[in-house]
Amino acid sequence: MERPGTFADANATFEEAKFVIAGVPFDRTTSFRPGARFGPDSIRQHSWNFESYDLETGVDLSDVPIHDLGNAGEFGSAAEMVASVREELRPVYEAGKIPIVLGGDHACSPPVVEAHPDPSSLGVLYLDAHMDFRSSYLGDSRSHACSSRRIVERVGARNVVVLGVRSVSREEIDENKGIGMSFVTAHEVAREGIESAVQRALNMLKTERIYVSLDIDAIDPAYAAGTGTPEPFGLTPRDVKYAIGQVAPRLAGLDIMEVSPHYDNGNTSALAARLAREAIVRSVAAGHPH
Ligand code: MN
Ligand code: MN
Repeated sequence: MERPGTFADANATFEEAKFVIAGVPFDRTTSFRPGARFGPDSIRQHSWNFESYDLETGVDLSDVPIHDLGNAGEFGSAAEMVASVREELRPVYEAGKIPIVLGGDHACSPPVVEAHPDPSSLGVLYLDAHMDFRSSYLGDSRSHACSSRRIVERVGARNVVVLGVRSVSREEIDENKGIGMSFVTAHEVAREGIESAVQRALNMLKTERIYVSLDIDAIDPAYAAGTGTPEPFGLTPRDVKYAIGQVAPRLAGLDIMEVSPHYDNGNTSALAARLAREAIVRSVAAGHPH
């Protein structure tokens, strides 16, 4: 399956593009099993699996201007990665384009939000099995276990909703009592149905534009085993497809993190690639970006 190193259908120049793909092959803050550094290129490879025409929307991705920036450069520490990602992504927002960032562990998400010229104008839908709300983890405030906390510090607790959570420490719950980040658990989704759960989550986000951070472990390991910290009782791929479709008209940016391709036979990478493509076709079908 050797293919050119770009995301499929990413044929536009940066100037022409409405959507800009970027990879962040960084997994140094992974707390259980490593390998998410291989996520971006694996997702790119699997993106070539799909037809460019989308049956549901009628959008043909070969007609959509998409540019692939490639991967953010070499870095050592999480702090260096953060600086590099911010620098790389800022011009994307400034030019009015929608970034789609492929990770990498979840530590790679906060700098994508921080790169926005006005992060406090964003709502964030944070799909994850985990709360990621630790103030610091193993001495690193930039650990992937701290990512929703870092994002809350930039956009405000009222502008973040975690969807699909089912694994959290007592300390995270206790600390959040004074902070007030909203969350909708995977168990609630199973009880009430994804349509109601997504509606409820989006009603909490009052901003015009929404940034989506998708930790692939939000999805059940039965469908997405290729990840670092698999957690049972998760969302289905169709749940996440639906959520992305509902956000698409307001999409400010999307990341897909924690794909660790060596733990399965490619299914998780294919799913991640398909969800990235879903975000693009749904945005285009909704007439976005304007
Ligand atoms: Mn996460
Ligand atoms: Mn997670």
